[in-house]
Amino acid sequence: MNSKKEVLIIGGGTAGIMVAAKLRKEHKDVSVTLIEPADTHYYQPAWTLVGAGTFDFQKTARPMKDLIPQGVKWVMDKAVGFDPKNNLVKTESNGDLSYDYLVVATGLVMEPSMIEGLQEGLEKGVVCSNYTDPKHTWEVLRNFKGGNAVFTQPTTPIKCGGAPQKIAYLAADYFRKKGIADKSNVIFATPGTVIFGVKPIRDTLMDVVNRYHIHFKPSYSPYRVDVQNKIIHFKHTAVGENRCVINEDNDLGESMVGDTDISMPFDMLHIAPPQAAPKFIRESVLADGNGWLSVNHNTLQHNKYPNIFGLGDVADLPTAKTGAAIRKQVPVVVNNIATMMKINSLGQKEYNGYSSCPLVTGYGKMVLAEFDYAGNFTPDPKLKRMFVFNSDKEHWRLWMLKKYGLPYLYWNKMLKGIDV
Ligand SMILES: Cc1cc2nc3c(=O)[nH]c(=O)nc-3n(C[C@H](O)[C@H](O)[C@H](O)COP(=O)(O)OP(=O)(O)OC[C@H]3O[C@@H](n4cnc5c(N)ncnc54)[C@H](O)[C@@H]3O)c2cc1C
Repeated sequence: MNSKKEVLIIGGGTAGIMVAAKLRKEHKDVSVTLIEPADTHYYQPAWTLVGAGTFDFQKTARPMKDLIPQGVKWVMDKAVGFDPKNNLVKTESNGDLSYDYLVVATGLVMEPSMIEGLQEGLEKGVVCSNYTDPKHTWEVLRNFKGGNAVFTQPTTPIKCGGAPQKIAYLAADYFRKKGIADKSNVIFATPGTVIFGVKPIRDTLMDVVNRYHIHFKPSYSPYRVDVQNKIIHFKHTAVGENRCVINEDNDLGESMVGDTDISMPFDMLHIAPPQAAPKFIRESVLADGNGWLSVNHNTLQHNKYPNIFGLGDVADLPTAKTGAAIRKQVPVVVNNIATMMKINSLGQKEYNGYSSCPLVTGYGKMVLAEFDYAGNFTPDPKLKRMFVFNSDKEHWRLWMLKKYGLPYLYWNKMLKGIDV
């Protein structure tokens, strides 16, 4: 391998640090530079547990400087634009940085402005979200005295698509423990048509929904939060089914205006805000028609510029945006870059869309959804070593994995470039 080759990585989140670590570990003669403006790195998957009061927020944060692998040059700055014809990335304060290979791993951004009133609701603390402030979610749950507890998600792609429903299950379990379940309506309203795309997981989750008497509202797309009156407005998107939407007792206080507009009062509201690629990606020549980074779904190589790769939440991959997916994407990107440096062609490894979602279904219980592009259920054979033979069913050992095992593996293996 040519010792002078420069790999430039944008973003020091899950994907950026993992790529940097693996490159440094396996290809010491490559020069790696990382552009990252933040001084703190977060283990976001534990925010679901923080929101339910069962994980310490401080333990999800570590100084960026401790995680950037030795030998990697850290440019503490923001990338602001691309000049791919000249192999340059523009930065806010460090001018143009050049590269032989570029890895784009900027993650995504919250876009609350896409739902009217949401920004104000979050700022005033009327709305809570594990995506922006999980400690606040826990405060809201603890102060909840009964009434409508509404959990919802937007129509845009989001990271960890299961997170909006995980906190609904934990809340329902918490209300049960606290003895206020009979005066609480837990509502899970989603633009989707089913609770989860993968069949065996869906069956288990519908049992969970029924166990907690959760009001499951499919085809509900939130578009406005009335912060003063604590009402959330949805469009009902399953045309033709509208008449069945509101049940006869209307114990949730819903009202319908016209054929598609539904409003629902709330006593607490948890939402996943709408999400998008960062603006400088959306407006760049690297974006696809929807603003996400345009990459080949199997090789993760940019569709126009062969020396650019992309992975993680920013990439336009038709699978769930999770850290678990990134775990399988990193070896493909690293192998492709290393092979291109050697023989100017891509390597043999391909990404098959693997992603996983640890669906916490209550305190001490979890189901592990693992799947590929085709939506096949693909449980990791290593689970058997943990005596978990049916990960599509609730299991306390999976909860232990989520609370203790995965954070340990993340900090000590994955971020160090070690395959797990
Ligand atoms: C509540 C919640 C629950 C979740 N649960 C799970 C789970 O159970 N399992 C799971 O696998 N995943 C889960 N996830 C998703 C997971 O955390 C993300 O998919 C993963 O962190 C994405 O990694 P990334 O590197 O693409 O982006 P991030 O980790 O978000 O990192 C992006 C980095 O890029 C930097 N950046 C942004 N813009 C620029 C710029 N212009 N220039 C330079 N740097 C820039 C940012 O500062 C950031 O450090 C969850 C996420 C949330 C919020």
